[in-house]
Amino acid sequence: RAKDQGKGRYEVFATGMHTQIFKRFQLEIDLRRAIEKEELYLQYQPIVSLETDKIIGFEALVRWQHPVHGFVSPAEFIPVAEETGLIIPLGKWILLSACDQLSIWQAQFPLDPPLMMSINISGHQLSHPDLVEYIEKILHQKSIDGENLKLEITETVAMNDVEAAISILLKLRTLNLRLSIDDFGTGYSSLSYLHRFPVNTLKIDRAFVSRMEDTNEDAAIVETVIMLSHALGMDVVAEGVETAEQKAKLKKLGCEYGQGYFFSKPLDSESATVLLKQQFENITDPNS
Ligand code: C2E
Ligand code: MG
Ligand code: MG
Ligand code: MG
Repeated sequence: RAKDQGKGRYEVFATGMHTQIFKRFQLEIDLRRAIEKEELYLQYQPIVSLETDKIIGFEALVRWQHPVHGFVSPAEFIPVAEETGLIIPLGKWILLSACDQLSIWQAQFPLDPPLMMSINISGHQLSHPDLVEYIEKILHQKSIDGENLKLEITETVAMNDVEAAISILLKLRTLNLRLSIDDFGTGYSSLSYLHRFPVNTLKIDRAFVSRMEDTNEDAAIVETVIMLSHALGMDVVAEGVETAEQKAKLKKLGCEYGQGYFFSKPLDSESATVLLKQQFENITDPNS
């Protein structure tokens, strides 16, 4: 009996492990194909000024429509892309596509200041020796000013190897690029390092924003991060703003920008263009 049970458990474990490895392997094969077959596309989520309620730019978010499994979340396949090195070609494609879209929008909607594009850069991508050169080439090719492109690096990646990160970020800054620390508050930032990062923006993680009305602690964290950012000469984007109350509170605390379902979900380029058109016509309408 005991022996049977033991065997049974072992089999469950073995099957589970086998399934997991197989799933990951299959995901890698599928992802390789997806990159070749163009099953990937980008969505764009507006980043809004809390002061003016205007869209100042977008964050590009990669999407994968799998022919059999349907939508696969980037939270699932980006880590696999990281581990397999596929993030390098994938990341280049994301950079190129997002910059292409930005140059189209900047031409169609000449705003002052110009629209910005934020792009997520993973750890492997950041340490790849060609990154700076590749971005320089794209900026040139798409006639984009470095200061209209913002790279998002997660707090965890930035803190993983502080000296290496600082040195790469400084190189990126020579292209005039803007830099953000993404998901701030979820990793283990050392405050003594934070001021050494040549970054323009902190993005407060959604976890704190979503709880800021429930607990005083989370409200205090949000308030402290905003004050800290300002003290270090950085501005703040609040992630995951879902309610008017959150928006009002963040604005009152001096947070400059918001991003979240309250303003808009991530959109296909066509829908984002419609939003931009409305905003642009309002601004340029002499009667408004
Ligand atoms: P992230 O960079 O922090 O992106 C924000 C995530 O929050 C996105 O999830 C977005 O859809 C979601 N979000 C935005 N507003 C709200 C809201 O109000 N409520 C809720 N519940 N969620 C909201 P998504 O697109 O699933 O991406 C997840 C993560 O995958 C990203 O987190 C980023 O770390 C990674 N990722 C996505 N696209 C890329 C990419 O192109 N390159 C790389 N390297 N990573 C990416
Ligand atoms: Mg991001
Ligand atoms: Mg984020
Ligand atoms: Mg996040």
